[in-house]
Amino acid sequence: MTTDEARRTTAANRAQQLGQARQGRPRAHAATVRPGARVRPEHARRHNRALVLQALYRSGGQSRADLAREVGLTRVTISDLVADLIEENLVVELGIRPDSRPGKPATLLDINRSGFSIIGLDLSHNAAFRGVVTNLDGTVLERAEASVAGVTGDAALDAVCALLDELLARASAPVIGIGIGSPGIVDLDGTVVSAPNLHWQDLPMQRIIGERYDLPVQVANDANMAAVGERSFGGADADMMLVRVGRGVGSGIVVGGQLVYGSGFAAGEIGHVVVGTDGGDECACGKHGCLETWLATPRLEARLTAATSDAEREAVLREAGERLGISLGPVVGALNLGEVVLAGPLNVLGGSLLEGTSETLRSRTMAELHGDLTLRMTTLGRDIVVLGAVVMVLTGQLGVS
Ligand SMILES: [Zn+2]
Repeated sequence: MTTDEARRTTAANRAQQLGQARQGRPRAHAATVRPGARVRPEHARRHNRALVLQALYRSGGQSRADLAREVGLTRVTISDLVADLIEENLVVELGIRPDSRPGKPATLLDINRSGFSIIGLDLSHNAAFRGVVTNLDGTVLERAEASVAGVTGDAALDAVCALLDELLARASAPVIGIGIGSPGIVDLDGTVVSAPNLHWQDLPMQRIIGERYDLPVQVANDANMAAVGERSFGGADADMMLVRVGRGVGSGIVVGGQLVYGSGFAAGEIGHVVVGTDGGDECACGKHGCLETWLATPRLEARLTAATSDAEREAVLREAGERLGISLGPVVGALNLGEVVLAGPLNVLGGSLLEGTSETLRSRTMAELHGDLTLRMTTLGRDIVVLGAVVMVLTGQLGVS
């Protein structure tokens, strides 16, 4: 057995010990572990364990007594859980609290942030697949890319595996799981139902990668991953929409802290919804005036290049922003969203386009109900999808986010 194989085997054993906390439907954020939620007895221990991990994940440096108060469990229960978590190397003791309170000095605890690795992949860019290795905090420790211009089908899947091989070899701590953001429609089992650009159809990627590496794997749509990343690492509202603009336009919708998947796993696929009744350019899908014809960056850049004055360029961006606002209005209104976040090239999206969207949204929704809506650019930059993939693994394996 090579060092890498040994590391993978150790990681796989570790991942199994961690418990497959949440099989099936991946969840966003911490709504699943809120204190006081009703749980069946057989799930109580797993639930309590996730409560402790979540409390430490969000705020390390707490004592057992602090944890007991925060999560509402007895000190005996907390001590038992913490003993197990220390045994699994998931929780570490930081030392004695440096204060002079009377009584026995408290030992402070933290989740073992640097003791494990997570691998996140973003397959949504045309020219390259991107991957990272992070610690449990989502701090990027390693990066790798695989050039995939024109690569499709089985060859594209091989490129995913080659990238994973490289990242696994570079991970210095046991890997608890792999998260993969794929373009296209992805079902709850991590099967890529359809990703036309990569010529993938009904590809059970989560199962294939899981069997190959013997590690827990989460595969989801890239915009859904981005929404989860923005929720955890960008501090977004529990009711929010993340709109990704690039060669296409897609979005991820989070309601009540949970990702919305939709009846055919295509929630958030707004790119081919026609905006308005006044025609528009022909789209790749055959319709006229789809949101992508107004907003996808190749079309926008072509219009900006053709424009002959700053005023004309400004008008191009503002109109694209207005079309986005028109298409988002009913969604924001129907779901009473608190935040809409745009991800994509800042130089195109950040100025007049964002203003146009904002003004249109405000003029088309009721100020009394939706006046608090925040519309902004993401601050996570190009890592938004891989960070979302990391959150998916954290939530799936440890119940934290
Ligand atoms: Zn279309």
